[in-house]
Amino acid sequence: MKIIKKILEMQDQSDHLRSSGKKIAFVPTMGFLHEGHLELMRYGKKTVDTLVVSIFVNPTQFGPNEDFDAYPRDMEGDLLKVEQVGGDIVFSPEAGEMYPADSQTKVVVDKVTKHLCGLSRPGHFDGVTSVVSKLFNIVKPHIAIFGEKDYQQLAVIRRMVMDLNMGIEIVGIPTVRESDGLAMSSRNAYLNPQERASALCLKKALDLADRLANEGEKNTRTIKRSMEELILRHPFTEIDYVQLCDPVSLEDVESIDGETLVALAIKVGRTRLIDNKIISMKGDFS
Ligand code: AMP
Repeated sequence: MKIIKKILEMQDQSDHLRSSGKKIAFVPTMGFLHEGHLELMRYGKKTVDTLVVSIFVNPTQFGPNEDFDAYPRDMEGDLLKVEQVGGDIVFSPEAGEMYPADSQTKVVVDKVTKHLCGLSRPGHFDGVTSVVSKLFNIVKPHIAIFGEKDYQQLAVIRRMVMDLNMGIEIVGIPTVRESDGLAMSSRNAYLNPQERASALCLKKALDLADRLANEGEKNTRTIKRSMEELILRHPFTEIDYVQLCDPVSLEDVESIDGETLVALAIKVGRTRLIDNKIISMKGDFS
């Protein structure tokens, strides 16, 4: 497995692979890898010839009061994990390599960034789309693989790739969970044992929404209220948002008429966790 830190070297490698007819799968990550990340990589490895993984904690997607400095890092452990799933290249640039002092360009996606995490993390998605565009230009993948756990991020990237005619296939992989249902996340490492127990409220609230819709409840306000009550019964929790929305536009919906995205962001202690589920009303309750 090759470890590349310089942009030009990565571009040369990708040009070489492409000109020899190889297909490149790309998994962008911020490291501190877990099974969720590895599932994305396994998909890439089994689908095409060459798997490139980037490990880069991108400063521009963190707000001023967010956890950039504290974000967990374990480069040595990460390299072992990528090697074990058969990764071919790890691209792990320094921040200065990605953002020279006079860089001035941003990629901004409009409407789909204006909901959910876009409201509570201003500028976050501009950081994501800008870094992912740069990474796409550096790694030059045929396909890029993202997790459905970060549902809005996946929707924003799909929009960007379509709008800018990037010609890269975007694949979404279902959320990988711990055995008790908590969505895997590098940020779970921040949780103490009491907070870890409370964090189960995210999955429980999503399952409750699913159950209510299955029982015929169409009113999203009623479902949202029940979810919020369930969440707040768990200690250390603070609700950032609980939303039921259209899975493509991410605009709020008042009634469950077709597939509906239930998305939430909850602070457990000082750790902000997100999760989501697509629900729909089953059966005929008319
Ligand atoms: P991150 O390192 O948090 O930026 O995540 C890198 C990629 O892994 C993103 O596409 C995430 O959506 C994906 N990812 C993170 N956690 C999970 C999970 N539990 N299951 C599936 N994919 C995930």
